[in-house]
Amino acid sequence: MNSSGRSPRDLALAALHKQQLEARARLGVATFISKGDALEAALKRADVRERECVIRDGYVQTPAFKYPERTERLRWARTRNILLRSSPGPDEDGNYLEMIARQAASIEMILCQEHTDQPNQRSQELCDHLLLGTLPTLQPSAFARRHGDFHFVQISAGLMEFAYQSSKAVVLSWKPMNGPESNRSEFKCEPEDVQSVLSKNPLPLQLMRLTIENYLFDGWPRATAYAPPPINYQAPLELLINCTERFIIAHEYCHNLYDAFDIVPPGDPLRGEEFAADVLAFHLVAESGFCLDRLPPNVSTQGAYFVLASLGVIHMALDLARYGEVREDLGFAGHPPIKQRLQVLRECYLQTVTREDSDLSIRAVLFAAETLDLLWRGLLDDGIVARWRDRVVHPIWAGV
Ligand SMILES: [Zn+2]
Repeated sequence: MNSSGRSPRDLALAALHKQQLEARARLGVATFISKGDALEAALKRADVRERECVIRDGYVQTPAFKYPERTERLRWARTRNILLRSSPGPDEDGNYLEMIARQAASIEMILCQEHTDQPNQRSQELCDHLLLGTLPTLQPSAFARRHGDFHFVQISAGLMEFAYQSSKAVVLSWKPMNGPESNRSEFKCEPEDVQSVLSKNPLPLQLMRLTIENYLFDGWPRATAYAPPPINYQAPLELLINCTERFIIAHEYCHNLYDAFDIVPPGDPLRGEEFAADVLAFHLVAESGFCLDRLPPNVSTQGAYFVLASLGVIHMALDLARYGEVREDLGFAGHPPIKQRLQVLRECYLQTVTREDSDLSIRAVLFAAETLDLLWRGLLDDGIVARWRDRVVHPIWAGV
């Protein structure tokens, strides 16, 4: 307690909520983000998630996924712990926070080795001081910040929305498998499959175009006229979004870890830490995917490549809208050039998983990122830039 009678945690939470309020005010939104008590909504969402599962033969099952029961129960408990610990204020969407808290719980479990015989006490102490939140800002960013002994991980609403909308366009570009041996949610995702879908169905390109244009010129990346995708697309969509959110969160946890433990990664002071955070996040995501979700690394780490490809598209679109040409990426959204980050992660996969052309080959991990690139190239071929000639980008992009 300090002289005001408030605990360090209360003071950190007050600072977090103040940052959210200021971000909302900058957006010009007059009313609170939450319609009611955000913590209550988040815990209710966690209840529903647990209730909708079926537990059978040592596994927790949803219609699309299957998790080992022991670790899944630990993840449920940790998700609730993160929600209670982060005590969302009025500028938080409780439903949304529950979804990212689940991804954060997956990372914390690996950091703390909670599921093993030798839990890591030091990491647990860091996690006990970690507060998770979304930030009502629209720029495509995430943040690691410190307040006294507490650490914040904040994800921008704009980044999450863009990642969701582009994931939807990507998954809709994949070709459902119709062979007698296939199940409903299997897709072919090679470039020729994507091209063949796009040549018959203009919807993914339209969705991607509207998402980009709304983000650039109206400041919010949403193509409102589009409903959720058909049911057979929902499992790959959920998987891609979860993997993407998990990587973004893991990257920010790594910044906090370096700060809390006074670790200085080698290389240039700023960029060295960014590359190190990418690589450590890659490993945390791969291990959590393997232990908690029964996913191979070429599925679980796809979000790393996908979020970087998404940032690449935003960067190129912004340059084309502003200058009519793509300029050299000298560091977008406060991070090293996207191409270099992709190269480091690509090499990380080849070195730590496999260079072989096998079931674990790097091919599958790049499907989502490459599909997004194909969509972007399709939009360029359709002359998207000519449509932007007399348009001015939204003020949210000032300074980006
Ligand atoms: Zn970073």
